[in-house]
Amino acid sequence: MAEFSIIDTYFNRKNVNSVDLGVGDDSALLTPPPQQHLVICADTSVAGRHFPLDTAPHAIGWKSVAVNLSDIAAMGAKPHSILLALSLPQIDHDWLKGFSQGLYDCCDQFGVSLIGGDTTQSPHLTITITALGWIETGQAVTRSGAQIGDLICVSGTIGDAAYGLKHRGHALQQRLDYPTPRCELGEQLKGLASSMIDISDGLAQDLGHILQASDKGASINVDQLPLSDALQQLPEKEKFQYALAGGDDYELCFTISPHNYQLLKQQNLDVNLTIIGQITKNLGLTFLQNGVDYSVQFHGYQHFA
Ligand code: ADP
Ligand code: MG
Repeated sequence: MAEFSIIDTYFNRKNVNSVDLGVGDDSALLTPPPQQHLVICADTSVAGRHFPLDTAPHAIGWKSVAVNLSDIAAMGAKPHSILLALSLPQIDHDWLKGFSQGLYDCCDQFGVSLIGGDTTQSPHLTITITALGWIETGQAVTRSGAQIGDLICVSGTIGDAAYGLKHRGHALQQRLDYPTPRCELGEQLKGLASSMIDISDGLAQDLGHILQASDKGASINVDQLPLSDALQQLPEKEKFQYALAGGDDYELCFTISPHNYQLLKQQNLDVNLTIIGQITKNLGLTFLQNGVDYSVQFHGYQHFA
């Protein structure tokens, strides 16, 4: 019984877009627009592993949605709806109130409906969200399309979330707790970017996925990495550790031809873009500082370390 009252109280708000049947039946029903792919992804957050145990419930709700919308954006797609599978150790109404408000705040900001899910009891707080979106058939921006000579760009600033995790209470903790999925930019890059990924595990590792999928290499200018003021002031080694290996930023990293970059810059963009390097024929990742070879040491994030 408790399960149904939780669903009704916290997870049964009005849909904000076209949903034929949402929360309340055995499955939800949607009508896909003609000539579009269904774009679908899932992401799990485990308390104490993906967010510190003392994270505000509102932030947990926001971030659980944001990380999924970021994956939809990284395909160039438009987000439509989410499903929420929630495993709770106990019923804590204050927590559920904050969590559901954060979840709906992120949904509302990006025009997404919560259309279903599952609610269970379990020893660990675990949140799995599945996100759905649409994109015109054949238009998805995958990881495998990078071409030699393409520019490598990132949105916003990188390394902030990792800095916020280490320095809790610093203003940059906001970037850890409330990441902004780059939904609008993602859609603007459809038809222009040759490959794309969202940065969840650090720039070096995530760009590495593009290089591997595209069978190319890259050279990165470390002096062009977009850093916020707090990071800019750090000693070099620490600065590059955050920027190259810090996870949880949810900025977009994409490759684009110089011609398409000019077309992109003619549009109204809601976030800064920085060119950080170029795609090369030589495999692997090389670094330059002021045009000179630069050896940089950093440790990446390992999910099963
Ligand atoms: P079933 O037993 O048929 O799987 P449930 O009793 O688990 O259905 O769920 C009832 C309805 O509530 C379904 O529409 C389901 O999608 C929805 N639902 C369950 N948990 C959640 C949740 N945490 N968030 C949103 N919708 C939920
Ligand atoms: Mg059923």
